[in-house]
Amino acid sequence: MTIALALHGGAGTLRRSDMNPELEDAYRQGLERALEAGHAILRAGGSALDAVCASVCALEDDPLFNAGRGSVYNLDGKQEMEAAVMDGCRQDAGSVTGLAQVQNPVRLARAVMENTPHVTLGFAAAEDFSRRIGLPMQPPEYFHTDKRWQALQLEKERIANGGGDDDIPEDRKHGTVGAVALDAQGRLAAATSTGGRTAKWAGRIGDTPVIGAGTWADAHCAVSGTGHGEYFVRAAVGHEISARLRYLDETLASACDAVVHGQLTPMGGTGGVAAVDRFGRVALPFNCEGMYRAAIDGEGRKLIAIYRDENQR
Ligand code: ASP
Repeated sequence: MTIALALHGGAGTLRRSDMNPELEDAYRQGLERALEAGHAILRAGGSALDAVCASVCALEDDPLFNAGRGSVYNLDGKQEMEAAVMDGCRQDAGSVTGLAQVQNPVRLARAVMENTPHVTLGFAAAEDFSRRIGLPMQPPEYFHTDKRWQALQLEKERIANGGGDDDIPEDRKHGTVGAVALDAQGRLAAATSTGGRTAKWAGRIGDTPVIGAGTWADAHCAVSGTGHGEYFVRAAVGHEISARLRYLDETLASACDAVVHGQLTPMGGTGGVAAVDRFGRVALPFNCEGMYRAAIDGEGRKLIAIYRDENQR
């Protein structure tokens, strides 16, 4: 019986120079809590789908991460959250976009998968559906953090001064949370949730709710992405990793490296993925300074890491 769980709290971490020990500790504790929330379900024989949803809910509730509470602001000063889940054993998926008041977008994504004839719902209609099925809703203050508001002001200034994409600090560009899991019955699942990119246009849809881009699971692997979403969509990152396993018989690590370093990097797309395969192997590659990440792989090896020079897997 092999179980495994891997998660990310976003690629593009704070620069080491901007990090302090208390904050670093808070990030690590947030990752640890999310890891335990999902892994406890797997240890008790629960499903990969329940596990990834529990891990992602924990990260959505933590204002340090860019998803749910603590989401970034768009150009209009609003939060438009998105999320997706995919159940690999049924190859079924649900996703949501353009949410302002749903406390846990990942729960709504799951409800779309389980309780509607559709894969993706967005904006006011998705929020109406959330109210109808009784998921917790919150006022805008609940999701607000000064840090994200400040990031929007800096970003607007940068845009007004004609700054290019390359001068944006990574922690201002990136953020998303996601989890992937293998359960004791061999089922794989993935879940991802995000506020998107700071200063994105209103109505912009990123890679997270695009099944096959930021979120993918089938019988071979489960993948959750974080990074510059437009590139993840253009490279169909999640599906591409799975295709390499199936058609080229690559290992998870080499398929992930080929896509993250071999495809995204030359295109100019920064970010990374959390991935797990049907053997419980975990891969967490990224092509930027850091990625908040945590895992317990099929052999029970645990990892909690932020920066590049920490144990990569
Ligand atoms: N992938 C997210 C998006 O583009 C943001 C991120 O992970 O940095 O919306």
